[in-house]
Amino acid sequence: PGGRVDCSQVACVALTFDDGPNSSTTLQVVNALNSQNIPATFFMLGSMAQSNPSVVATIAANPRFEIGNHSVNHPNLTTLSSAQVSSQITSATATLTRLSGRRITLFRPPYGSHNATVDAACRTSGQAVILWSVDTLDWQNRNAATTTAKAVAGAKAGSIILMHDIHPSTAAAVPGLINQLRAKGFVLVTVSELLGAPVAGRTYTQRG
Ligand code: ZN
Repeated sequence: PGGRVDCSQVACVALTFDDGPNSSTTLQVVNALNSQNIPATFFMLGSMAQSNPSVVATIAANPRFEIGNHSVNHPNLTTLSSAQVSSQITSATATLTRLSGRRITLFRPPYGSHNATVDAACRTSGQAVILWSVDTLDWQNRNAATTTAKAVAGAKAGSIILMHDIHPSTAAAVPGLINQLRAKGFVLVTVSELLGAPVAGRTYTQRG
């Protein structure tokens, strides 16, 4: 359904939103995206999804949105045992699958922190390890104009842009940020559209 984008031919960029969903700013982000029919990928925490099942359902109901795994409760996975790492990944997968009806094929490690244990657990769970190439530092600056400027200045063909849908400043940034990226000729896509068919257990920071 809809026009499939060929990211080998056009300048694609993927917006990604981590650490939600919540029932306020996440819905603001969703509304901003929907009003311009823009796809995005949400890397959800199992704990947040569990607390906000209707928001997960709202996102899952839109085929333009992709849902990825961001662990149960955001530990630094490299400090955990292999059993604990597996539990963080499989438990969040179970929650997200149950609440969204989607197959979960992408994992973003909290803090981008991963090692061979994390990668092996992702491979077993059928999930690619998705990092980013543009960090808006939205969690730190908490400023819509700064977040927008970092996203737009950093974006290149194939970029994965990191943001967090739990901050009001980020939600406020989304409409303008979309306009500026499109004005520069970028086509916004999901992470899976950007990467083609990402391989489970392999790490990606951008396309190519
Ligand atoms: Zn996070």
